[in-house]
Amino acid sequence: MTQKIRTRIAPSPTGFLHLGTARTALFSWAFARHFGGDFVLRIEDTDVARSTQESVEQILQAMHWLGLDYDEGPFYQMQRLERYQAVVEQMLAAGTAYRCYCTPEELDAMREAQKARGEKTGYDGRWRPEPGKVLPPVPEGVKPVVRFRNPAEGDVTWNDLVKGPITINNREIDDLIILRPDGVPTYNFAVVVDDWDMSITHVFRGDEHVNNTPWQINIFRALGAPLPQFGHVPVILGDDGLKLSKRRGAVSVTAYEEMGYLPEAMLNYLARLGWSHGDDELFSREQLVSWFDGEHLSKSPAQWDAAKLAWVNAQYLKQADDGRLATLATAQLRRKGVAVSDAQVTPAHCALFKDRCTTTADLADWLAMYFAPVAPSAEEQAQHVTEAVKPALLALAARLATVDWEKAAINQAIKDTIGEHGLKMPQLAIPVRVLVCGRAQTPSVDAVLSLFDRKIVIDRLQAL
Ligand code: GLU
Repeated sequence: MTQKIRTRIAPSPTGFLHLGTARTALFSWAFARHFGGDFVLRIEDTDVARSTQESVEQILQAMHWLGLDYDEGPFYQMQRLERYQAVVEQMLAAGTAYRCYCTPEELDAMREAQKARGEKTGYDGRWRPEPGKVLPPVPEGVKPVVRFRNPAEGDVTWNDLVKGPITINNREIDDLIILRPDGVPTYNFAVVVDDWDMSITHVFRGDEHVNNTPWQINIFRALGAPLPQFGHVPVILGDDGLKLSKRRGAVSVTAYEEMGYLPEAMLNYLARLGWSHGDDELFSREQLVSWFDGEHLSKSPAQWDAAKLAWVNAQYLKQADDGRLATLATAQLRRKGVAVSDAQVTPAHCALFKDRCTTTADLADWLAMYFAPVAPSAEEQAQHVTEAVKPALLALAARLATVDWEKAAINQAIKDTIGEHGLKMPQLAIPVRVLVCGRAQTPSVDAVLSLFDRKIVIDRLQAL
C-alpha cells in the first residue's frame, strides 16, 4: 500500500459518545494505527438545534479516556461553512447542483399525492434542469435550497469492507438537498467535502448510513474527488436482541467510566463486538493494533453482553496497578458519598480486595467500611454475635489495644483469644467481621483488620 491510510470518526455532538460510535472510533483508530496512518476527529455539528458544547466536551473526554488519540482535529463543520458554500457554487456552475424553490407545504403535498397514487415518495425533480425543459417561474420571497443533481440512470456500486459488494440503482434515489436556505449544508454533502478535504481513505461507520452512501459516492464523482473505501459496521444489539438504546440501559462511554469500568477493559470488550482475532478474548491495545487490518469484521449484528464485559473488567482489575486503583476507588467512594482524603485509600487496600471485584465501584463498596460507619444486619448480629462469644470479643479488643498493628501480631492476638476461650477460629472471626466490617464474609480477618485504624476496630468490637 503506497497511499497513506487516513481514517476518521465524525460524531454528532447531540449527546454522549454512544458505545456504537466508540466502537466505530476504535476500529477506525486501530486501522489507522495498524497501517501507520492518521486518525482524524471531526465534530459534525450542523444540526445546530441539537448540538451542544457540553456534548462536544463529553465526546472529547470519552475519547481521551479510551485512549483513542487522534492526529488531526477536532475539526468543526460549523467552522467550515464557507468551504461548503464555495463547493456548492462550483457545483451550481458545473450543473451538478441546482436551486429548488419548493416550499415545505409543496413538498408535503408532493409526498401526499405520491402516496395516494401508490408511488414511492421522493423529490419529483420539478426544479431539476433538463435540456429543453422549462422551469417554473422563480417565486418571490422563497429562499431556495440547493439540491444535488443525482445521475438519473445507472448503478452505484461499491465493495464494502464489511458487507461486500453493494449495488443501488440511481432510479431509487432522488435529488437530495445539499444546502439549506440558511447556508448550512446537510450531512450527506458536508461529509463528502470533509472526507475529500481531509484525504480520508477509509470510512468506517455504522450501517445505518449504508443508504446514504450511494448519494455520497455520486457527489464524490460529481466533484472529481477520489473515493474512499467504505466499511459499514452492523449495529450492536442489547441483551434483549433489540438495538442498544438508552431505554435499555447505559449506552454512553462516560456511564461505564462512572460505573467503575477500566478503559483498557472497555477497549478490549468493544473491539470484540463485531471483530475477532481467532479465539482471543483478552488482548492489549498493542496486540489489537498489530492485528487490526480490516479483516474479520462481522457482517452480522454484535450482541451486547453485560456479563462478558463484567468478566473482562474483572480480569483487568486483577492485573491493574494498586496505586492506580487507589485513585479510582477514592473517586468511587466520593461518588457514593463517603468522604476520603487523597491518601487514605492505599494500594494495600486495593490489593486485598480487587480479586473479588468486577468494577472499581465494587472495590469502593468493600472499602467503604474503612472510612464510614458500618451497619451489620440484625439477623447477622443475632446469629453470630452471641452472648457466648461476647466475652471473647471484648478480650480480643483489649489485646488489640496493645499489639503491634500489623497482620502477624493481629493474627496472634486472635489465636491467643480463641485458645483462652476454647473457641474455633470461625466462632470468633465471623462475629469480628460482622461487627467491624458489617458483613460475615471477607478476606482473611487479620489482613482485613490490619488495614483499619486501630481505634475503629476496638470501638466497633466494644460497641457490641
Ligand atoms: N455524524 C455522523 C454520525 O454520527 C457520521 C457518519 C459518518 O461517519 O459518515 O452518524
